[in-house]
Amino acid sequence: MLSTMQDVPLTVTRILAHGARVHGRSLITTWTGEGEPQRRSFAEAGVRAVQLAAALRDDLGVRGDDRVATLMWNNAEHVEAYFAIPSMGAVLHTLNLRLPAEQLVWIANHAADRVIIVNGSLLPLLAPLLPKLPTVEHVVVSGPGDRSLLDGAPAQVHEYEELIAGKPTTFDWPEIDERQAAAMCYTSGTTGDPKGVVYSHRSIYLHSMQVNMAQSMGLTDQDTSLVVVPQFHVNAWGLPHATFMTGVNMLMPDRFLQPAPLAEMIEKERPTHAAAVPTIWQGLLAELSSRPRDVSSLTQVTIGGSACPPSLMDAFDKLGMRVCHAWGMTETSPLGTVARPPAHAVGTDEEFTYRLTQGRFPAGVEARLTGPGGERLPWDGESAGELEVRGPWIAGAYYNGPDAEPLRPADKFSEDGWLKTGDVGTISPEGFLTLTDRAKDVIKSGGEWISSVDLENALMAHPDVAEAAVVAVPDEKWGERPLATVVLKEGATADFAVLRSFLADERGIAKWQLPERWTIVGAVPKTSVGKFDKKVLRRQYAAGELD
Ligand code: ADP
Repeated sequence: MLSTMQDVPLTVTRILAHGARVHGRSLITTWTGEGEPQRRSFAEAGVRAVQLAAALRDDLGVRGDDRVATLMWNNAEHVEAYFAIPSMGAVLHTLNLRLPAEQLVWIANHAADRVIIVNGSLLPLLAPLLPKLPTVEHVVVSGPGDRSLLDGAPAQVHEYEELIAGKPTTFDWPEIDERQAAAMCYTSGTTGDPKGVVYSHRSIYLHSMQVNMAQSMGLTDQDTSLVVVPQFHVNAWGLPHATFMTGVNMLMPDRFLQPAPLAEMIEKERPTHAAAVPTIWQGLLAELSSRPRDVSSLTQVTIGGSACPPSLMDAFDKLGMRVCHAWGMTETSPLGTVARPPAHAVGTDEEFTYRLTQGRFPAGVEARLTGPGGERLPWDGESAGELEVRGPWIAGAYYNGPDAEPLRPADKFSEDGWLKTGDVGTISPEGFLTLTDRAKDVIKSGGEWISSVDLENALMAHPDVAEAAVVAVPDEKWGERPLATVVLKEGATADFAVLRSFLADERGIAKWQLPERWTIVGAVPKTSVGKFDKKVLRRQYAAGELD
């Protein structure tokens, strides 16, 4: 028997219409670096998104599922593109501006982007690439920047504001099948070529509802979210879509992502929530300790993308910025787990321990653990295996061109269609995930596994340590051993002997796990999305650069 319910497609178009109308007074505030920030209401952004869609269709000839790329920071115009492009049935392709040039070229060609909307400040990056992008017919420039860099460009150049000016303010949106592509994002390709994840209207809609649930971010129109996590990476963790559903105000940092402007933004614009990877917050913490600001408005900070060091959570808690740890990946839209402590632990000594886990799975994400021999492992909080997930906002394949079968590599998808995350950990009987490592980062020493994350967290708990990354390096006797790469705080004096005994005596690290190879560096190399780049560290070590 079929249900008697209406079959209304879950589309980005509906999120746009709702946000612009019901939450029309909510604001997108974009930091401009000097003077007043730019303030635009959801209602205004909604109208401009309609005008952008009209311009893309009428002036640029965007049709069907053409890919329209963005090479942009987090700002109001990027939000407009987020809604205009999928709503007209085309596909938004967010280009990660921190990728090496050759990867950007590979990705834009693979997606066959027809249009690129670019921030003027990023023209020095885009202009030299354009001759290598034969599918790109139009470049639309938004915001300050030197346009002359595009002189002679092999594409038609348009000004964003001129393009949308005077365009109709209503659009007869097409009825879209909710399973159609709305947006795409390539993983940064830590192994092999980058892989394209294509989000559907339905997956974005359902994911946005999950982001909004009280047990996830749980924000309302009384909140302002400082969206540091880039819109060019996994849809800024789904925040632009989720905020349009609930009217949460967005504070967008544009290109001002350094600790000092972030601190200034928090003090002046008083966001209540913020989201970013740990390295951003480590930087902010250092900034606040050297130059304290009033950050009292910020009471909720979502941290994910890599493990949140306990020392960071503790320091933020002390500043009144309560951390909520979450896990996810490009393939999971990204919300996979959120570490809200269960009711029975709130107010007890256990609470912090729960908050440090990667968190609990929501109803939309099914999880299982697989052992090395393919066996299913129990949710007993002890058996460690590779995490596999399935759900309506989890990728089931990678993009392989419009007319090709999607890719389902065996190392990424199980035979029965679950996503193999490449993350190793345990799940407690209550459904709390604790990751010990990425499968490729775990240190295999004499048949035992050492968690690089545990060592990093223990090191970063030392007051002299600003950052620490641990990687496996080859060892004749043990196969692999840990190499600790440490960044000391300014003026700090701790040496390896001190750090080693700190790990053993105060952090309870077993003797056989203690690193015997150490190096002090000025900074840990970071990936395009601000995580420790362990591939680079391993390469530097192999080249003898870290001795
Ligand atoms: P990339 O592969 O470029 O890093 P993603 O952003 O998709 O791309 O990274 C997802 C990975 O980041 C996860 O598979 C996991 O290893 C790591 N990760 C994300 N959140 C956390 C977290 N809270 N704790 C530990 N690792 C995390």
